[in-house]
Amino acid sequence: MLNRNAVEERFAAYYHADSEVIACAPGRVNLLGEHTDYNDGFVLPVAIDRSTCVAARARTDRIVHCYTAQFDQADSFPLDAIERSATLPWSNYVRGVINGVQALYPHRLLRGADLLIDSDIPLGSGLSSSAALEIAIGAAFQALNHLRITGTTLALLAQQAEHIFAGVQCGIMDQFIVALGQADHALLIDCRDRHYKPVPLPSQVSIVVSDSGVERTLSASAYNQRRAECAAAMRSLQAHRPAITALRDVTVADLDQYGATLPPLIRARARHVVHENARTLAGAAALQAGDLVTFGTLMRASHISLRDDYQVSSDALDTLVAAAWSVPGCYGSRLTGAGFGGCTVSLVQTAAVEPFVTAVTQAYQSHTGRTPAMYVCRAAAGVQIIV
Ligand code: ADP
Ligand code: MG
Repeated sequence: MLNRNAVEERFAAYYHADSEVIACAPGRVNLLGEHTDYNDGFVLPVAIDRSTCVAARARTDRIVHCYTAQFDQADSFPLDAIERSATLPWSNYVRGVINGVQALYPHRLLRGADLLIDSDIPLGSGLSSSAALEIAIGAAFQALNHLRITGTTLALLAQQAEHIFAGVQCGIMDQFIVALGQADHALLIDCRDRHYKPVPLPSQVSIVVSDSGVERTLSASAYNQRRAECAAAMRSLQAHRPAITALRDVTVADLDQYGATLPPLIRARARHVVHENARTLAGAAALQAGDLVTFGTLMRASHISLRDDYQVSSDALDTLVAAAWSVPGCYGSRLTGAGFGGCTVSLVQTAAVEPFVTAVTQAYQSHTGRTPAMYVCRAAAGVQIIV
């Protein structure tokens, strides 16, 4: 866990002044509900005990200075005209969020800030360092200016910032869980109306994220293709049941009744989404009842569906998952995130974590020649502001 005192000391050394607030936002991993978000469906992410911290101090002028320890780079920009940075991609997350906060208060003259970012979330690995950065920046900046932005509003403006300033068309899951996560709980989020419900995670279980180390190169084009295929399935099924406006509205019974009218590939995509939504709801109920065995079985079914029906897995991810499934004390494992590379998530009895890490690492090494990064995590709280 990132040491907050160390971040404050880093701020003092860099700016030669003490910080006034520090905001820390966690990374996240999705336990169940993959490729359901853009179909208005359900997701079940958990915030993890790795975080991005922003130490901050208000300025008397309307300039924002920002330094990130991860790139050892600094940037500054005026609050009066926040534009995208052409040279510093990371700064666009900062600029976008501060621009979004300012837009909520058109009649207030907000103060500039000195900001310092530090993090122990691996960047670009699928643990959502981007949302952690956005939410930590937003939380620190609002605290400096004594604003009261709700977690939901902060999540929405951070998502907008990622769309507009960073150019990434992400869903709402990452910002939501990073802003609103609860310690020892996952969050069941309805991506249609953004209702959410904390679901307890039993204390004897650890979350293990295994990074395949394979870049998600194919993922942008394939992701867009999957979205288009889901839209095509939705339109065809709508012809039979006009109330359907997203695959979220399609039941397993609908699919049994009308599925044969879809081309086989489109039917397989729809089958994944419809069953994944059902699995996510069933998984939340299982967790609520403390039934990790059922939850693990659903994770396994999710992976098989992502591999065979949605076709977003890879040899590397299948290898990690198969190794995990065979270790005693592992309840379940599946690819997490968009797929094609990136990470898997496994739920493992805490007492069995050490042998689990050893076994999966060895299996992956002998199959691929690469060493996976393994992150053992617990379910943590969403963003925290310390004044
Ligand atoms: P992920 O969110 O899965 O980690 P992304 O590609 O969405 O991967 O986001 C990673 C990008 O977010 C980085 O390349 C960088 O631009 C920005 N970022 C995240 N954390 C930091 C940080 N601590 N300092 C500076 N930039 C960061
Ligand atoms: Mg991201």
